[in-house]
Amino acid sequence: MIRKIYKFGGASVKDANAVRNLKNILENENRDEIMLVISAMGKTTNAIEKALADFRNNNGHLEISALSEIIEYHENIMNDLFEDNTNHPVFETITNLFLDLYLNLQETGYDYDYQYDNTVSFGEMLSTTLISAYLNECGIKNKLIDAREYIITDHNFRSANPDWDECRLRIDKLNDSHDGSMYITQGFIASSTSPKTATTLGREGSDFTAAIFANCMDADEVTIWKDVDGLRNADPKRFPDTKKIEHLSYFEAIELAFYGASIIHPKTLKPLQNKNIPLKVRSFLNTKLQPSIIDGTNDFIEYIPSFIVKENQTLMSITTRDYSFMNEHNRALIFNIMDELNIHANMTQISALVLSICFDENEKKRLQLTEALSQTFKIKYNNGLQLFTIRHYQEGIEHDFIKDKIIFVVQKSRSTYQIVLQPKM
Ligand code: ASP
Ligand code: MG
Repeated sequence: MIRKIYKFGGASVKDANAVRNLKNILENENRDEIMLVISAMGKTTNAIEKALADFRNNNGHLEISALSEIIEYHENIMNDLFEDNTNHPVFETITNLFLDLYLNLQETGYDYDYQYDNTVSFGEMLSTTLISAYLNECGIKNKLIDAREYIITDHNFRSANPDWDECRLRIDKLNDSHDGSMYITQGFIASSTSPKTATTLGREGSDFTAAIFANCMDADEVTIWKDVDGLRNADPKRFPDTKKIEHLSYFEAIELAFYGASIIHPKTLKPLQNKNIPLKVRSFLNTKLQPSIIDGTNDFIEYIPSFIVKENQTLMSITTRDYSFMNEHNRALIFNIMDELNIHANMTQISALVLSICFDENEKKRLQLTEALSQTFKIKYNNGLQLFTIRHYQEGIEHDFIKDKIIFVVQKSRSTYQIVLQPKM
């Protein structure tokens, strides 16, 4: 039986040495109860996005640079890992994946989101094919499992929602037939049935994949392996002097992830909470360091303030045209349309006549929302904003971050402080 899900993100498999490090970690683990969920190597998903844009701008004609970078990057890693065995069959498998990726990139006649999911999924297929073969070669026996056979979703491309019953049915069978080998599968990628097509769970969605498998398998734990020693109270790339949070509740972690703490994909925690499965965030650079642990603790934990910045926000203000109140009827109307369009409010504020909503920038969706609302409401918006959130706010602590910036909205509760602002030009 699989008891533990280990998720390795792009940074943990970004080059040949990183893959060797992964092998070293696994050598010391009880592998017959582990399933690895692996992301695309390094920045491959971004690179495929770029290749896709190039092909579409070029009507599907060969746009060599972005694609050849992807090919060269994987070939370098493969040549390095298999330098003593260049006849290994993985070379042919990977070459076929390159070819399929190329064919998919040419199909620019389709809807963008559909084509996006079909092409970006090659990142995870390449990484897992390569890593599985390498580990087998090194004596770390494993079985490569195609996540698209188990993570079944709706057709909401680029942010697909799991069909839990179908996932559970298939994952149950997988676990029942477990033969004691370590499993390796892809994060992020999924598929929908009728019609059968590739889908993805949204950027950084591999954490969510790990949580779906864990939930359906009733696993004992999920570990996310990171280049940091756990969860921190702010992004060390942006803030000086960050502190590690050793232990936190699901509740607290969901709040942090929702506001944009990028270390965990926001959808990851609910499936774990529902089965009381602890989540560990652990360093792949130094396995001796204690992980941060997120679980169902009821202990009182005195949390330190956490700072979270969500970039590329749209702030839309929606005002009634006939000066009727922004009452429950109007709000329900607006939120129902947002729900249909899959637009998620990161923050809202309501006055007598105006509803202000902050959401992730997406021009297509913004235009659809505007069109759907403009009969009844006047719409104004600003793009390129930041949503800055402080959990466990202390008076004045925001000062350094917000100084010299233009503030659009401020909201404050006992535990949370949020500001929508324009970053310095
Ligand atoms: N490879 C995907 C991405 O970069 C999924 C992930 O890394 O979690 O968004
Ligand atoms: Mg990633």
